[in-house]
Amino acid sequence: MFETIVRIFGSDLPSLPRARLTREEQRWLLSAHGHNPLLRARRAGMVAARARLLAGLFLALTPVWMLVEFLTLPRSLWLAVGTARLVIIVPFLAMLWALRAGDRHRGVTVIALFGLFAVPAIFYVWTMQILGAGSGAGMAQAVIATHTFFPLLLVAGLGLFPLTLAESLALSLPIFLARGWIVWQVLAPGEVYAVLGALWFLLLVAAAGGLAAGSQLALLIALLRQSIRDPLTGAFSRASGEELLALEMTIAQRADQPFAVAFIDLDRFKDVNDRHGHDAGDRVLAAAAASIAGSLRTTDALLRWGGEEFMVLMPDTDCMQAMVGLERLRARGFGVRPDGQRQTASIGVAERLADGRADAARLVELADQRMYQAKRAGRDRLFGCQLSEGGRQPHA
Ligand code: GH3
Ligand code: MG
Ligand code: MG
Repeated sequence: MFETIVRIFGSDLPSLPRARLTREEQRWLLSAHGHNPLLRARRAGMVAARARLLAGLFLALTPVWMLVEFLTLPRSLWLAVGTARLVIIVPFLAMLWALRAGDRHRGVTVIALFGLFAVPAIFYVWTMQILGAGSGAGMAQAVIATHTFFPLLLVAGLGLFPLTLAESLALSLPIFLARGWIVWQVLAPGEVYAVLGALWFLLLVAAAGGLAAGSQLALLIALLRQSIRDPLTGAFSRASGEELLALEMTIAQRADQPFAVAFIDLDRFKDVNDRHGHDAGDRVLAAAAASIAGSLRTTDALLRWGGEEFMVLMPDTDCMQAMVGLERLRARGFGVRPDGQRQTASIGVAERLADGRADAARLVELADQRMYQAKRAGRDRLFGCQLSEGGRQPHA
């Protein structure tokens, strides 16, 4: 269903020719499990910016609402509701502070987003118990009615964020509980059908909100794929690759895990272009990238660093594991050249713990140096972290 929505949206956007999501990308709509670090980072930034906007709006409207209620509600009710309004200013200020721009831990964004929905749900339960079943007349009645419909507004608000299905469900849960509780306790005490009716209606609005949230996420995934991939090889482009590299390095440092990078440069590639033309060269490049990508684990990432230079990022992979994986890649090969010869590559590997490199740039620099050593030693070989003295012999 999400896919259909994406196609409908996508067909209007000429810059989005392949809006159709792959199977893996469709799974990303269900839960955040398996989202790649770039998607995580962009989505967290988007969610934080919108959550900040909403929290700010809520704070700005608080005095306005207090004034409206001052003019319409009986004084005792106004005082009680106003107290609730003043109290929830505190968590909203905390959310604004937690969501401020800059380096944020992902957990902070998740908690703040949950708070953005859970705190108003608590506020709803609090104020509805004060305002009761809607006593009062005229304007007071109208003001109380706005409180009654507050949960609908909240679940509709889901649509403002690019959310997975699991997240939409988790964020709606406190609102459903609050609404069910208030109908059961205050609005229609003990009437099961009233509760079911209220929740059913809330579910319809939540479904619309959740669907909007899911289609936002689908569009974000499709757009991100378009903007971060190199069209010839399907690998990450240089700019997004550098961003990914920095993110993976930070993750590895936080978790104190190994992180290996491999620099892969195709051997004598200029000859292919010179003898068989640029188009043939392009086909060899695409085939080499496909072969590399085919032997990577799902957590690894392939970057196109420059013309015929690739980089493989291997999170949570120590030096020996990286060497074993890359030997497997060499055995599989990099495709064939137009003259039927094997396309070979020279590879340099570096790993942050084994090589004691604290920042991404120096790790890449070392892998690059080792790649050049491999070139000088005769090409078609792998120079790695612990085997740098002699390198590995060309593959049989
Ligand atoms: P070495 O074994 O020392 O790496 O030799 P090489 O010929 O592979 O290295 P060199 O850096 O001299 O040449 C790389 C060539 O890759 C030059 C350039 O024309 C070609 N190239 C770069 N990008 C592309 C591309 O997108 N398509 C094609 N067809 N060729 C490209
Ligand atoms: Mg090169
Ligand atoms: Mg080369």
